Amino acid sequence: MIDGLDTQDVRELKGVGNAMAEKLARLHLNTVQDLLFHLPIRYQDRTRVVPIGQLRFGDEAVIEGHITGAEIKMGKRRSLLCRIKDHTGTLCLRFFHFSAAQKKQLEAGKRLRCFGEIRRGSSGFEIYHPEYQLISEEETPPKATQLTPIYPLTEGLTQTKIRQLCEQALERLTPYNLQEWLPDELRHAFSLSPLCDAIQFLHHPTKDVNLEQLRSGAHPAQYRLSFEELMAHQLSLIGKRLKAKQDVSVRVPNAGALSQQLLSQLPFSPTQAQQRVFGEILQDLGTGHPMLRLVQGDVGSGKTLVAALAAASVVQAGYQVAIMAPTEILAEQHYHNFRQWFEPLGLNVAWMIGKLKGKAREKELADIASGVAHLVVGTHALFQDTVEFDRLALAVIDEQHRFGVHQRMALREKGMKHGIQPHQLIMTATPIPRTLAMSAYADLDCSIIDELPPGRTPVNTVVVSDQRRQEVIDRVKSACEEGKQAYWVCTLIEESEALQCQAAEDTALLLQEQLGNLSIGLVHGRLKSQEKADIMAKFKAGDLQLLVATTVIEVGVDVPNASLMVIENPERLGLAQLHQLRGRVGRGQAASHCVLLYKAPLGQQGKERLSTMRETSDGFKIAEKDLELRGPGELLGTRQTGLWEFKVADLQRDKNLLDDVQKAAIQLHNHYPDRVAPLLSRWLPNHDQYLNV
Ligand code: ADP
Ligand code: MG
Repeated sequence: MIDGLDTQDVRELKGVGNAMAEKLARLHLNTVQDLLFHLPIRYQDRTRVVPIGQLRFGDEAVIEGHITGAEIKMGKRRSLLCRIKDHTGTLCLRFFHFSAAQKKQLEAGKRLRCFGEIRRGSSGFEIYHPEYQLISEEETPPKATQLTPIYPLTEGLTQTKIRQLCEQALERLTPYNLQEWLPDELRHAFSLSPLCDAIQFLHHPTKDVNLEQLRSGAHPAQYRLSFEELMAHQLSLIGKRLKAKQDVSVRVPNAGALSQQLLSQLPFSPTQAQQRVFGEILQDLGTGHPMLRLVQGDVGSGKTLVAALAAASVVQAGYQVAIMAPTEILAEQHYHNFRQWFEPLGLNVAWMIGKLKGKAREKELADIASGVAHLVVGTHALFQDTVEFDRLALAVIDEQHRFGVHQRMALREKGMKHGIQPHQLIMTATPIPRTLAMSAYADLDCSIIDELPPGRTPVNTVVVSDQRRQEVIDRVKSACEEGKQAYWVCTLIEESEALQCQAAEDTALLLQEQLGNLSIGLVHGRLKSQEKADIMAKFKAGDLQLLVATTVIEVGVDVPNASLMVIENPERLGLAQLHQLRGRVGRGQAASHCVLLYKAPLGQQGKERLSTMRETSDGFKIAEKDLELRGPGELLGTRQTGLWEFKVADLQRDKNLLDDVQKAAIQLHNHYPDRVAPLLSRWLPNHDQYLNV
C-alpha cells in the first residue's frame, strides 16, 4: 500500500520543529492528514472591495478609499483616527497603538486598501487596527482569488502559520495518499463528491461560493465529509453490536409455563403490542447470545408486564433475574408488583436498596447468592460488590434514561464474573428521538409498545398562572370530594434536594390548612424508605386523597384512581420530565387533568415548553421537541464524551442525513468489509475504546 498522509508526521513539513509539533498536538494535529481534516471554522472574503455605503456592522470587508485626514484624539484612550472616503461614504480607522511614522504615512489624499471588522463607532463605521496598505491610483495590487480560511488555533499558533501548514498539506494531497474509501457505487447513490475535492474546496472555497450555505454547514462539500464521518460512527456501532452478539449467553428455549400461569392470574389480557414485544424478546433469548434490547413504550403502556413475562421465561429455564429501577419508590412498587405476580407461582423475590441494613440486608444477600431468590428487585444498589448473584441471566433496567451507560455495563460485568453474559432488557418511557436511536443507542435492538391498554382517556392539560392558585386549590378540593385522588407536585429544579423537600413540606402544610377535611400525604427524597413506602401504599389504597410530592414520583408510580395532577413551576422542568410526571395520571377510567401552575411571567423557552405540553401527549413529538430545545448531550443524561465529538458532523444539523448514512454503512459493511477498519481509523482513531464502553 502507498504511504498515506496519515503516516506522515507534521514535522516533515517546512517550518515544523518539535516545539511547533507540540503545539499542533494540542489540537490533535499529529499527521499531515490531520491537518487536512482541520477545517476552517469560517472564511473571510478578501476577493472583492466593498463600497463603504454597503457595509453592515459586524462584516469583515476589504475597503478602498482616499484618506481625508488623520488626527490624534485624546478621549478615554489616546488614539489615532484616520478618515477615509470612497464614492459611497466615509469610514474611520482607529489605532490605539501607533507610531509617529505611521501617522505621517497616513497623509490626506493618499489611497488606502484596508481590511477588518466593521464596528459601530462614535462617528459611524469604524475599523480598529485594520490590516492596510497604501496603493497607487493606477495600479492596484491583486486581490485574493479565493476566500481566506480562518482556522481554529491554539496558543502560539497564528492564522498565518496554520494557513501555511494547511497549504503544504494540500500540496501533498492526492487521491493516492488520502484514499477514497467510499466505493463509486455508494458515492453515486448518495451524490457524494470525491473526498479530495471536498477537502480542497473547504480549505479554499472559490469566491463564487454561497457563503450562507457554507456557514450553515449545508454545502455539498461539508455534506460529503459529514456523511463519511457519520458513516464511520455508524460502522463502529454496527461492529460493537456484532461483537456483543458473539458472546455466549444463556439460551432460553421458549416462553415456558410460568409466563402462561402469570398471564392467567391477571384481570386483563396483554395488548397486541405487549404480545409482539414479548415475542421479540423471546426470539433474542432463544439465540444463546446476549440480548441487548431497548423497549420503548409511552408512560402507561404496560412495560412492567412485558418485563415480568420475560423474567418468568428466564426463571423457568432455571436462572435468576434482576430488575433495576432508578428510584426507591419505583423499586418499591416493582417489588410489590413482582411479589404479587410471582409469589403465587411459588417463586421468591428478593429486595436490595442502599438503605437496607443489618440482618435484613444479610438475609437478602444470602438469598441472592444462594439462588433461593429467583428474582431480585432493587435500585442501583444491585451493582454493589457485596451483591453476588448465583446465576444471573437477565437484567431488566427500567427507565434507562436515569441510568448511565456505565451502570448498565457494570451490571453486565456482574454476570460476566460467573462466565455468563446476562441478557439485557432496557425499558424506557422517554422515547429516543431518531437522532439518538441511530447514534448513541444504535448498539441496541429496539422494540416499541405502540399501544396503550384499552380504556385510557387522554389527559387534558391546562396551563394556569400562579395568580390563580386559589382556583386550582378549589378544584383539587372538589375533585377529591367526588372521590378522586390528586397529586400536587412541587419542583425547584435549580436548588438543592433539601430545598425541594422543604418546599414540599411547606406546601403540604398550607394545603392542609386550606383543605382541612382532606387527608393529605407527603413524600419526598429525605424520608426514610419505609416512610415513603407506607405513604405510597396508603395513597394506593385510597386512604390518602391528596399526595404532595417532589419529583420523586416522576418515574413509574402507578395509582390508577389518581386523575388530577398539579405541577408547580413546570416552566423550570424539561419536557421529558413533564411528560413523565403527567404520565402518573390518565391510568384509570376517569377523565384526567393536569394543571401546569406556572410562575408568571413566562420566558420564551417556558412558553414553548408549556404549549407543547398542552398541545400533545405524544411522547415521540415531545422528545423531538425536547432534543431541539436542549441538545442531545443533556438528553442522554450522561455526558458520553467522545461519542459527540465529531470533527465535521453535527448530529442535530445533519439529522436528515442519518437515514442515508445508515443505509450506506450497512452496504459498506456487507459488501466492502475491508474498508471498514481504515474508515474507522481515519475518523475514530480511538474506536477500540468505543467497543469497550
Ligand atoms: P409503564 O409502561 O409506564 O411502566 P406500567 O407497566 O406501570 O406502565 O402499566 C401501567 C398500568 O397499566 C398498570 O396498572 C398495569 O397493571 C396496567 N396494564 C398493563 N398492561 C395492561 C393491559 N394489557 N390491560 C390493562 N391494563 C394493563
Ligand atoms: Mg414503568
